[in-house]
Amino acid sequence: MSKKKAVVIGAGFAGMSAACYLAKDGFEVTVLEKNEMAGGRARKFEAEGFVFDMGPSWYWMPDIFEKFFADFNKKPSDYYQLKRLSPSYSVYFDDGKAVNIPSDMKELKNLFEQYEKGSGEKLEQFLNDAAYKYNVGINDLVHRPGVSIMEFASIDLMRDVMRLNVFKSFYKHAREYFSHPHLLQLLEFPVLFLGATAQNTPALYSLMNYADMQLGTWYPMGGMFEIVKGMKVLAESLGVNFVFNSAVTNFEYNNNGNINYVSCNSKKYEADVVIGSADYNFLDTKVLKEKRNYSDKYWNSRTMAPSCLLFYLGVDKKINNLEHHNLFFDKDFTKHAFEIYEEAKWPSDPLFYVCAPSKTDNTIAPDGKENLFLLMPVAIGLEDNEEVREKYYKVMMERLEALTGEKISEHVIYKKSFAQSNFIADYNSYKGNAYGLANTLKQTAILKPSIRSKKVKNLFFAGQLTVPGPGVPPSLISGKVAASLVKKEY
Ligand SMILES: Cc1cc2nc3c(=O)[nH]c(=O)nc-3n(C[C@H](O)[C@H](O)[C@H](O)COP(=O)(O)OP(=O)(O)OC[C@H]3O[C@@H](n4cnc5c(N)ncnc54)[C@H](O)[C@@H]3O)c2cc1C
Repeated sequence: MSKKKAVVIGAGFAGMSAACYLAKDGFEVTVLEKNEMAGGRARKFEAEGFVFDMGPSWYWMPDIFEKFFADFNKKPSDYYQLKRLSPSYSVYFDDGKAVNIPSDMKELKNLFEQYEKGSGEKLEQFLNDAAYKYNVGINDLVHRPGVSIMEFASIDLMRDVMRLNVFKSFYKHAREYFSHPHLLQLLEFPVLFLGATAQNTPALYSLMNYADMQLGTWYPMGGMFEIVKGMKVLAESLGVNFVFNSAVTNFEYNNNGNINYVSCNSKKYEADVVIGSADYNFLDTKVLKEKRNYSDKYWNSRTMAPSCLLFYLGVDKKINNLEHHNLFFDKDFTKHAFEIYEEAKWPSDPLFYVCAPSKTDNTIAPDGKENLFLLMPVAIGLEDNEEVREKYYKVMMERLEALTGEKISEHVIYKKSFAQSNFIADYNSYKGNAYGLANTLKQTAILKPSIRSKKVKNLFFAGQLTVPGPGVPPSLISGKVAASLVKKEY
């Protein structure tokens, strides 16, 4: 019997994950990707001897990657070598001093104690609670496709809902344990950078703090793109066929209203089933058109995760006062969050993040040089241009120089920026979002854009705008969940 044909749209983490599972389940899988390489938001480029990861830089939740590869009898170390970072990262607070966040729990508790008496003990309690949420959330909740409320109707889960703090805000939860602003900022930054304000985020997401503080920050030697390379090698070994430079523009339907062909400009691909992992809004409004799931009003009312302004820099010297990951929280945290999520305007005094992966890895920069990545979270839907990019480059560079006490700008020998308009042009991103849909209470599980089409029976979705949400580990899970729905029905 000939194999059923599955077409996956998009070769980001979600698409590659879906493709691997579909191939393992016996489908003949073709992945159609708009860009010239796999990885999506995690692509890389090389210039002047520097190798830049274009998107994700924090390798969190190593257990999710292990589980993904284990599903194919593989291990991450079959494809890339991980290193745990110590310190995990460094934070510049409003006193202008850098604080290294230790990877060792005892040292971390001591650090907390320096800010607030008794907070070391409280951190242990906070993380015990977060560990419980992580276990239920990551091992159970995120694997539910969210197509029916009945998925959440078990007695066990009802009992857990209270303990999982689904209906309490992260903001309130953190303040039940801590009051020092620096400690609160440390706990809130993962939800702020990846989705929404702490006020709008369910306290369930303290599971991110467990991931950060207990499971640690890791780095795949060679860069984050090594994960992409590994997944592509795995997918190809399972028989997946990748077709690059192939943007999907249209579907053709059979008499039952199912997709039977997926078209890219002049070429079309036969399909028994389709998983769309390109930005959901694009597929819904521009490819499905009248068969779309959601109206413009629906999309406009979604809370998207932020966009960001990025600079990839090659520096012709080593910079002493930087760690691998550096958070610049020396300005008003709440104000910047308000400007992103409530006012949707360019920030007046931004927080930003600097990654210097060449601190850990000498293969991604020429000898004696530093590879830097500057990231400033910004609201979606803003128009960006050279002038505004330059304005913020200067703001970040001046602060970076002042706080590290190093001359950097005159040592920049390579510079490239990336912002909202690039996210739209390169990934068909809705309003230039970088990280998909925010993890707010009103956009959790069944309340996210549905993982399956309501009008086209053989169409499913994956990726950071559907369940379970933004981030590399959730995208891997998203591909698995979509593929498991397909497996059940085909
Ligand atoms: C700057 C930045 C930093 C980040 N940092 C982190 C981090 O440190 N840690 C972390 O865990 N996560 C991080 N993230 C989030 C993480 O990168 C994403 O959640 C994840 O990569 C999304 O994967 P995806 O497959 O859903 O989407 P994508 O990676 O966007 O993949 C979708 C693919 O679909 C393709 N496509 C679009 N339209 C079409 C079409 N018409 N036809 C064919 N293909 C199409 C796109 O080209 C793309 O390759 C970051 C993201 C960004 C942008």
